[in-house]
Amino acid sequence: MATCPRCGRKVPEDAIYCPYCGARIGVTKENIEYIREKIAELRRAETISLIMAFFLTFCAGGMFALMKYETIVNPYVALIVGIVSVVGVVISLIAWIRAMTERKELLEKLKWASK
Ligand SMILES: [Zn+2]
Repeated sequence: MATCPRCGRKVPEDAIYCPYCGARIGVTKENIEYIREKIAELRRAETISLIMAFFLTFCAGGMFALMKYETIVNPYVALIVGIVSVVGVVISLIAWIRAMTERKELLEKLKWASK
């Protein structure tokens, strides 16, 4: 846990602002490694989310294409799997954007630290 320089309360290591008083939380020797690990972790999460989004896009496209071939697959099953895949694409993209936003904030935090 990091300590807020203004109010002295314990705040999460990756906090950018103190949740109690709103003061900016700097980077200290104690939390810099944690922040670097968190950035690496978020980068992996971004990659996985993007791979998922691409995979599910192809899956949805394939399912909608298969709907024309009733002999291969029941069109309703294909439709449902296709819709579920589209929902999965949206969730993956939201996860990607959230991880990217959080990583940018942490990178900003590291930038302030080096000033
Ligand atoms: Zn505070």
